[in-house]
Amino acid sequence: MKPKVIISTGMRNRILRRFEDLLNDVAEVKFIPSWKTEQFFEELKDAVALVVFHEYVDKNLLEHAPKLKIVSRFGVGYDRVDVEACTERGIYVTNTPGVLSRAVAELTMALMLALSRKLCVADQYVRTEWGKPNRELLPLREDLADKTLGIIGLGRIGYEVARRAKAFDMNLVYYDKVRNEKAEKELDARFMPLDDLLSRSDFVTIHVPLTPETAKLIGAKELRCMKKAAYIINTSRGPVIDEQALCRALKEGWIAGVGLDVYTVEPLPLDSPLVKMGNVVLTPHMGTHTVETRHRMVSTIVEDIRKVLKGKAPSRIVPEQKGRLPS
Ligand code: NAD
Repeated sequence: MKPKVIISTGMRNRILRRFEDLLNDVAEVKFIPSWKTEQFFEELKDAVALVVFHEYVDKNLLEHAPKLKIVSRFGVGYDRVDVEACTERGIYVTNTPGVLSRAVAELTMALMLALSRKLCVADQYVRTEWGKPNRELLPLREDLADKTLGIIGLGRIGYEVARRAKAFDMNLVYYDKVRNEKAEKELDARFMPLDDLLSRSDFVTIHVPLTPETAKLIGAKELRCMKKAAYIINTSRGPVIDEQALCRALKEGWIAGVGLDVYTVEPLPLDSPLVKMGNVVLTPHMGTHTVETRHRMVSTIVEDIRKVLKGKAPSRIVPEQKGRLPS
């Protein structure tokens, strides 16, 4: 019998079906859409690899998976995987770093441009107003050029955003727990403490992982530090911003607007105050939703699963497991 690989989604589109095509010779690939049902736990009993999308992998789940050797997160953030519990059981946790950075950076730039040029308003204007003889004119908008972009978390995605923003002639400042000398040298990015970054930036973009340290990193105090004309963009994880404080900041005009791809609760409830606000641009957690990137993510995961099935260590072990599991 071939070892079993579970893909935890019912979405068997052309790209995800490649999991079957690429693993078929060495594994039995099963797509299980209903997470934590009896059927799921039954299948998990003899699974060797589990590919997860947005689901939580906790101790309880691992107890149903005695043969599991690898949990592969389809994405970079693994805040929903209990890495410690996996490590104790000798289960590798891997993700798909790097291959998606450009796609998320592109979406970040799109949100920044949508805010600076008020693209949603402009689109609506063309559909309903522009063709009228007595139309009102739209107000002038703002350049990105010569504005200061504050990047919180200058890692892989933050760096790709920095490169693109540099090409737009923006000035770059950043805050991170680690200095990024490459970006300082190549892109003239200036390191500064978080409060300074917030008070100087015209645009602030967040690219830190969600950890106990970064939860509500941006709350009321931080939002009050920002310029009234500044925008904030978050394509990292929703809980990094205190969403209640953000709604208050938007209502009371502490900041000019926000572009969000991620939320405290996903999908964003239709009765969220954000939905009714005009100074926000919202996308449905789609940072990696491009054909090319999704192909690369599948290939990356397959490569690591194949290694584990051969008894080798995967290449993309999360940093918390380095030195604790064979590599
Ligand atoms: P990365 O590890 O390369 O970069 C993260 C950076 O944050 C690092 O430079 C790190 O030093 C810094 N950092 C960590 N904790 C910090 C703290 N407490 N204070 C200051 N800086 C801190 O990760 P990445 O590949 O750039 O991805 C970043 C995040 O983007 C992921 O963790 C994920 O949550 C999110 N993401 C979102 C999407 C999407 O669809 N919107 C897609 C991919 C990734």
